Amino acid sequence: MENYDESIMVYCPYNKEHKMLRKKLQQHILKCREIHKDTVELKVCPFNKIHLIPEPEFFQHVKFCEDRKIIVQYQTSAAAVINDDTKHAKIESEENWDDVNVPDYDPQAYCSSANIVREPNGLFPSQRKAFIKEENRRRFGDDYDNEEQPKKNKSQEPRKGNRPMPYDRNSSNRR
Ligand SMILES: [Zn+2]
Ligand SMILES: [Zn+2]
Repeated sequence: MENYDESIMVYCPYNKEHKMLRKKLQQHILKCREIHKDTVELKVCPFNKIHLIPEPEFFQHVKFCEDRKIIVQYQTSAAAVINDDTKHAKIESEENWDDVNVPDYDPQAYCSSANIVREPNGLFPSQRKAFIKEENRRRFGDDYDNEEQPKKNKSQEPRKGNRPMPYDRNSSNRR
């Protein structure tokens, strides 16, 4: 296998009689191409653009190019082909893919034991009421339960036919 020591001698792809240091090759090729471009067509190696190969040797070079294995190796390791064997069914979200002996994080369970204020978001009114009650008991202790907050008397019957009026205090004392 070639190494990339720039002091090694290489041959010009246009003319094997041109021999030079590897580091001189590219510069030489630029000049030599001007001379040979009408007679020799060099093709660029698909694996390394500094490999310029005369047409007759191109196929052979591509087959055995030293950079080919690097690229092929990279491609097979990086881009796995997806076929029926590698496809899998939809992953259930409940599954715990972390291989640790720690229970799943449950925000509700965490909050119920932590000293933080929760908001009853996303609950139905009855759930919300129970939540607030439970929450107050959690935060203020069991004896909170007996201290009902003063209720607003908002359970008046809606009056039929009448729109609820703002500041409609007198309507309850009908004349
Ligand atoms: Zn040359
Ligand atoms: Zn090559």
